[in-house]
Amino acid sequence: MQYIGCHLSATGGYQAMVKTAQSIDANTFAFFTRNPRGSKAKKEDPKDAQLATQILCRENFGPLVAHGAYTMNLCTADPEARAFAAEILTDDLRRMVSLPGNFYNFHPGSHVGQGVEQGIDYIASALKRVLSHGYPVKVLLETMAGKGSEIGGKFQELKAIIDAVGSDNVGVCLDTCHVYDGGYDIVNDLDGVLGEFDRIVGLDRLCALHLNDSKNPFASHKDRHECIGRGSLGEETFRRIVNHPLLQGKPMILETPNELPGYAAEIKMLRKMGENS
Ligand code: FE
Ligand code: FE
Ligand code: ZN
Repeated sequence: MQYIGCHLSATGGYQAMVKTAQSIDANTFAFFTRNPRGSKAKKEDPKDAQLATQILCRENFGPLVAHGAYTMNLCTADPEARAFAAEILTDDLRRMVSLPGNFYNFHPGSHVGQGVEQGIDYIASALKRVLSHGYPVKVLLETMAGKGSEIGGKFQELKAIIDAVGSDNVGVCLDTCHVYDGGYDIVNDLDGVLGEFDRIVGLDRLCALHLNDSKNPFASHKDRHECIGRGSLGEETFRRIVNHPLLQGKPMILETPNELPGYAAEIKMLRKMGENS
């Protein structure tokens, strides 16, 4: 089963997102759990979540991939800001209780000059604390482009966080733009990169993908997304990804901003690529 979808606006609630997803032939989707550039979250609507969960199940949707706020930095230098980030994470995972069995992905964080090791330490200890609540959601660390002091641009960093947390409830969401921009050549050697991921992290931890093309050439560490086939990754790379035997059954999320008809066209193209091979 191929689960393909895109990032959707959460403004109208969960059932509205499911409806929108169905209208563009998506069978998974992503959404922000709160204002991505702030921290405000919407009022919860358990009834809406419950009804949406029923439809998702009945219509055989794949796992959803909720996205944490960009501003949530678990390894920022100020202790109060760090504690606040952990609070936001806790609240996000608590909110996911009404959508059991789905994924929650977030950017590991930026160490802002404190060093990679310190950053990994802070992220892991926050995660460990939050996960001890036992919320029914798997937390996915996103592979990053390695921009500035971002953590997660190297598979080893993700592995270090996973090991330090020591929970089965931590996985990885591989962002195609970010890994290529981070120096993993999925254009010329997708098998090699997946092999490397398997050796370092383990493919059993790879739970979801973000499908984005990149505006920049290989290893730029810039993180500028582009629509599928219009950037340096190119259509062929996505054809290989969609058809790769090791990636089957994992939710694939388009997240380069696009209007709904744009997303619909990309989903159609990806589904067609998946049939023709
Ligand atoms: Fe992201
Ligand atoms: Fe992403
Ligand atoms: Zn990005």
